[in-house]
Amino acid sequence: MTLAPNTSASSDEMITSINPANGSVAGTVTATSPAELDAVVERAWTAFRNSGWAESLPHRRALVLQKIADGLLAEKETLARLQMADNGKPLGECRGMVESAIGTFRYYAGVCETLETDVTPSRGDYVSLTVLEPFGVVACITPWNSPIMNDATKVAPALAAGNAVILKPSEDSPLLAPELARIALAAGLPEGMLQVVQGKGPAIGSALVAHPGVRMISFTGGTATGRAIGRIAGERLVPAALELGGKSPHVVFADADLDHAVAAVVAGIFGSAGQSCVAGSRLFVEASIYDEVLQRVVDRAKSLKVDAPDAAGVEMGPLASFHHRERVAAFVDRARQEGGRILCGGEAPTGGVFDAGAYYLPTVIDGLGPDAASCQEEAFGPVLVALPFRDEADLISQANGTAFGLACGIWSESFKRCWRIGRALEAGSVWINTYKQSVTSTPFGGFKNSGLGREKGIDGLRLYAQVKSMYFGLHEHPLAVAK
Ligand code: NAD
Repeated sequence: MTLAPNTSASSDEMITSINPANGSVAGTVTATSPAELDAVVERAWTAFRNSGWAESLPHRRALVLQKIADGLLAEKETLARLQMADNGKPLGECRGMVESAIGTFRYYAGVCETLETDVTPSRGDYVSLTVLEPFGVVACITPWNSPIMNDATKVAPALAAGNAVILKPSEDSPLLAPELARIALAAGLPEGMLQVVQGKGPAIGSALVAHPGVRMISFTGGTATGRAIGRIAGERLVPAALELGGKSPHVVFADADLDHAVAAVVAGIFGSAGQSCVAGSRLFVEASIYDEVLQRVVDRAKSLKVDAPDAAGVEMGPLASFHHRERVAAFVDRARQEGGRILCGGEAPTGGVFDAGAYYLPTVIDGLGPDAASCQEEAFGPVLVALPFRDEADLISQANGTAFGLACGIWSESFKRCWRIGRALEAGSVWINTYKQSVTSTPFGGFKNSGLGREKGIDGLRLYAQVKSMYFGLHEHPLAVAK
């Protein structure tokens, strides 16, 4: 049987990616209609059943994953520039994201073998063994902030585990996923094992989640969408891994190395223009040094080089889209209405490159209580709210006082304090005297409303496998009904 290429099935509706640095068209893709989705899912099952991918020895799958990494490496600069046009991140960050995607394919190639069988020794009259099997067809749905990196974090382990993957990127950054599928096909991945569907979340995304042929869902995006997907998955009783939003506390104690702490606080929120799920968007500073630290953070924020994403020395580019800039501006307006003092930023820059792009200045706000909506909700933009704390108990109560629990940062020279606070804060990732570090071998995910399940590491591979236990009887005599 001839299978269609690993690109999206199409309808007549076009999705246009606008370059947020200058408003030009970065590219267009064709939306997949819900009616066409049936054919995509069927093609995925045909590939899963007939291609031999799932049955092949793990090292053979690993070889293809390595070749996908090679293919990404060969096109690193082109892909980085495509992502820069697709969502406006500075070129250096985009290069880092392609490197991260390459590392992810290499890592899961390396750990593919760990899916081999576990055998429990005989207890005399039986031996049992556990096999990890793919689900079959899995849906991977990704957001717009780091497309190639988020796509790789899902696609590499899902393929390593033997599944056929249907990948739906965000309608705001649709250009990288088809490139990944093209590179994978060229690397030797059987046709139909990685297909891309395009379109808006409420249309094709929800149709994908609800499709009876999809056996597992892996989603990264906002908490409200995650909840909607979780409801459908719950109704269908299919597993859903959910990587969601955050409002991560970044904590500075009076005994911290303040030079490093201030630099990390600024990088932790204004890197990627705050469009990072782990952005340290709530700054907590011990009361005795609050004014000093806040002033240093504001001074550094004001000095950040906001510019076109490919400008020399750029530290912060535009937001990913014009409509996202409107959301961020509305967030800051509400903070003003809540009584927040805007210490810097709070507006879009003007003149030169800024007039044509979706830029917004690094913004620091204080004067709000921890329960203000601006301190509770995710801005997903370059907006930092600052709050003082009296002592450890006050900090823990304030920092844990949101629905989120994705990450946190702690700055103190006391190991014991870092340990205590790190254990007390409700967060899936704790950074101590550093921030936003990430390695593929270390699991990543959220507490509370920041998600369910863990990506990366071996946990991230096992997400895409289901456990089957098998028992072999070794009885010399017929089995008694009860012993
Ligand atoms: P979003 O939830 O709006 O969209 C994410 C993806 O889901 C997109 O592909 C979208 O088309 C799709 N989608 C939307 N509605 C859907 C529906 N009803 N059914 C199925 N799919 C649907 O999120 P976004 O605005 O693209 O991304 C920003 C959010 O992502 C932020 O909250 C951020 O914190 C979060 N995020 C989390 C992580 C993490 O690892 N925890 C990483 C990056 C981003």
